[in-house]
Amino acid sequence: METHKDVVCTYCGCVCDDLEIQTENQQIIASKYACAIANEKFLVCRKERNLSPLLRVGGDLVEAELDDTIERAAHILAAAKYPLLYGWSNTSCETIKVGLELAELVGGLIDNTSSVCHGPGIEAVQEVGEVSATLGQVKHRADLIIYWGCNPGSGHIRHMSRYTLAQGRFRSGRKDRKVVVVDVRSTPTSKVGDEFVKIEPGGDYELLTALRMAIRDEEFEVDKVAGVPVSKIEELADLMANAQFGALFFGLGLTMSKGKSENVTAAISLVDDLNSRTKFILMPMRGHHNVTGANKVFTWQTGYPFAVDFSHGYPRYNPGETSVVDSLARGEPDAALIVASDPVANFPKPAVANLSKIPIIVIDPSLTATALLADVVIPTAFLGVECAGTIYRMDGVPLYTKKIVEPPPNCLPDTLILQKLLKRVKELKGV
Ligand code: SF4
Repeated sequence: METHKDVVCTYCGCVCDDLEIQTENQQIIASKYACAIANEKFLVCRKERNLSPLLRVGGDLVEAELDDTIERAAHILAAAKYPLLYGWSNTSCETIKVGLELAELVGGLIDNTSSVCHGPGIEAVQEVGEVSATLGQVKHRADLIIYWGCNPGSGHIRHMSRYTLAQGRFRSGRKDRKVVVVDVRSTPTSKVGDEFVKIEPGGDYELLTALRMAIRDEEFEVDKVAGVPVSKIEELADLMANAQFGALFFGLGLTMSKGKSENVTAAISLVDDLNSRTKFILMPMRGHHNVTGANKVFTWQTGYPFAVDFSHGYPRYNPGETSVVDSLARGEPDAALIVASDPVANFPKPAVANLSKIPIIVIDPSLTATALLADVVIPTAFLGVECAGTIYRMDGVPLYTKKIVEPPPNCLPDTLILQKLLKRVKELKGV
């Protein structure tokens, strides 16, 4: 039996890097420090994965040689006029880099999952900037934590125990910190907070603006804002302004409710105001383990964090026009390469309807709903379990994930599959 220490979890954006995994005969037999979600990934997912390269023949998906799937995929991409290359948030930065080169080569549209989650927050940061910090700074210094429109108690299970409630260098733990939860409903997170501020759905922008007014001691002419009594707003504003180090974590409840990027702009402005009185930071609760890395690699390579269109021969970025759901809903892409994502399971119906009409290539360890519609399915190794690679934690800290067991025979790392695909498309295009 072998014990692997400091294993990096490749599930959610917390990217916990302290797991211990025990292996025997190339099998994972136990884990330590992993949350329930991570345990599922390490102990169960490998048993339920896809082991076979598949090609659609006569309407059915049939087992095929790996080289044949890469050949078919290369022909589809080389022949397409405007292919979509989507996913990328559940894979390594090394893979994303190859994907971007491929997108430029085929003149396609490349987008990552932030397009349908924290995209509006990214747009807001592009407009007005942000004050941020590492999770380590939060752990060591924060005395006020606000979770706004997010529920780490269910989605980022170790976020609170590792960073916001843990003992830090200058904080002795839970008793040294105040936790406030702002949400439209009670959640497991709100139950462990010191304060729960229940707001009306869609009222985020109003409440954030009201908090800015309260911090500036401005008068209110109403009793409530977004369903929250003014007395409570003033109390919260006092708490924020008097904190020594405050951290506002926000989730899709803020970015995907009415107001979208304007909500995040208002949150950034609130944090900006607070920084004239104290130290306050803002951070999105990123979902996929490398969605932050996807934004970073897209930006290094193209100048833009998501929704990048190469059809003019140079990168263009105009979310709403060049974003995946909008483009699919208009029926523009004529082929799709989906890497480590399952758009059929979560995209709106018009987008899925058009996606189902075009040739689809899926590169993924699991047989997803999208894979069942695909023409080519290429299984891969699990990142952080069967192959190594770089990913970025939600606070922008890069971590290198380890290989702890060998992948099954037909399951190569997706970086390698993308490199083979890129090489073959170059040959077909005579580049
Ligand atoms: S909180 Fe997220 S990163 Fe940490 S162990 Fe659980 S799933 Fe993995």
